[in-house]
Amino acid sequence: MIWTVKSPATKKVIGTLDETPLERAEDLYDNANKAFLTWSGLSISERVHFLQKLRLSIVEQLDDIVKVIHDSTGKVAVEALTTEVMTVVDSISHIEKRAAAALKTRKVKTPITFIGKSSYIEYKPRGTVLVISPWNFPFQLSMIPIVEALVAGNAVILKPSEITPMVGVLIEQLFEQAGFPAGLLQVAHGGKELGAALVKGKPDFIHFTGSVRTGKIIQAEAAKQLIPTLLELGGKDPMIVCADANMERAVQGAIWGAFTNSGQVCMSVERVYVDKSIYQKFVDRLVQETQALKQGIAADSDIGSMTFPQQTAIIKAHVKDALEKGAELIAGDHPDQWKDGQMFIEPMILTKVDHGMAIMQEETFGPVLPVMPFETEEEAIALANDTRFGLNASVWTADLDRGKRIVSRLISGNAVINDVIITVANPYLPYGGAKEGGIGAYHGDVGMQNFCVQTAVMVDKG
Ligand code: ADP
Repeated sequence: MIWTVKSPATKKVIGTLDETPLERAEDLYDNANKAFLTWSGLSISERVHFLQKLRLSIVEQLDDIVKVIHDSTGKVAVEALTTEVMTVVDSISHIEKRAAAALKTRKVKTPITFIGKSSYIEYKPRGTVLVISPWNFPFQLSMIPIVEALVAGNAVILKPSEITPMVGVLIEQLFEQAGFPAGLLQVAHGGKELGAALVKGKPDFIHFTGSVRTGKIIQAEAAKQLIPTLLELGGKDPMIVCADANMERAVQGAIWGAFTNSGQVCMSVERVYVDKSIYQKFVDRLVQETQALKQGIAADSDIGSMTFPQQTAIIKAHVKDALEKGAELIAGDHPDQWKDGQMFIEPMILTKVDHGMAIMQEETFGPVLPVMPFETEEEAIALANDTRFGLNASVWTADLDRGKRIVSRLISGNAVINDVIITVANPYLPYGGAKEGGIGAYHGDVGMQNFCVQTAVMVDKG
């Protein structure tokens, strides 16, 4: 079936593609399993040779790639460049060193009772990795798991989001241009039925990024076949601003953390807790800066459009629930003023919020920031931890010991002191969530090892 794709921001047609029939799932696995036999026999530096060609292709076609991402998502072009394309380029730049360090065979101690024996751990590729990716960062969240899975020696099948399918077509072309062996990276274009068929098709590992709801469905299905999974799910990330924080930096951090990609970021700042003594000043500055943001698709815009129309209904429900329970909207349009199908949602600030409101408990995934005062460090930590999620968190203070003390008590897969989100951009740090934030991590040594089977070996000289 031919699929016609429109831009969420302009509603103009941006491309067409062929949907992959469900019956193709078996062929895809056959091709991948064949490609795996040769690829897994190459050394890391031989694999990196192909990846560096891919990196070069990306750099040579930066403008075209940025355009496809921008047209597909409605995010502003500079965001597509910095948070998606450059993050991928950076990740590939470091890939050889990272893979060599993470995947090298490790000698470990052997207890004296096993006299004469030696021990080591070896990391081997798993086979065919199924990567299922979402629409909010369709390039980055497809490419980074693909690159890590490939360098570890696996073959990959990518099922990109049906909301941004032209990015999947782009990825397919980039791998073709870089001359990767046939069948090593295949892209399956389709929706959740195709995703489900691919999960049932017996991958050796599943790397999923998306909603908690779908993550649970995939985990349940994978459990039936005992397929190992890595799940990158949702967030309700807190930001704690202490009285001694650099106010201007914290305000800018909150703005960027909450409104980049119109808040459609699993690690976006979704709640701010501010020390009571600086609360009013912080809120006033936040409102000024929020109202100064420029929204649109022009090159100098700060914020683009929403990508997924249904998301606006969730944002609306959360904001209205908060307003009905006593919150105050002090920046942005009231949801009742939004037009049907409106994709540019003005950034909003909410005050007088509490944890009885959905806006403080559920993932909103939109350009809305609730702000709440706190009196003691203890209270701030308790509020930050009062959530089903645990993906990222940030603490803002001039006292780094205090920052580290607070971070050590937050239940969160990632945390930042005096900045937001950035842990994901450091390929040496593992990235993954606690609680409903997800299971497992990629990036870093541990992340790279997750794409491998670990064999523990003990040797007797005989
Ligand atoms: P979002 O993209 O809003 O986070 P989802 O979690 O539903 O939403 O989608 C993420 C990815 O998971 C998409 O590529 C989607 O097609 C895929 N997907 C959705 N449902 C399933 C399913 N039951 N099995 C496999 N993949 C699925």
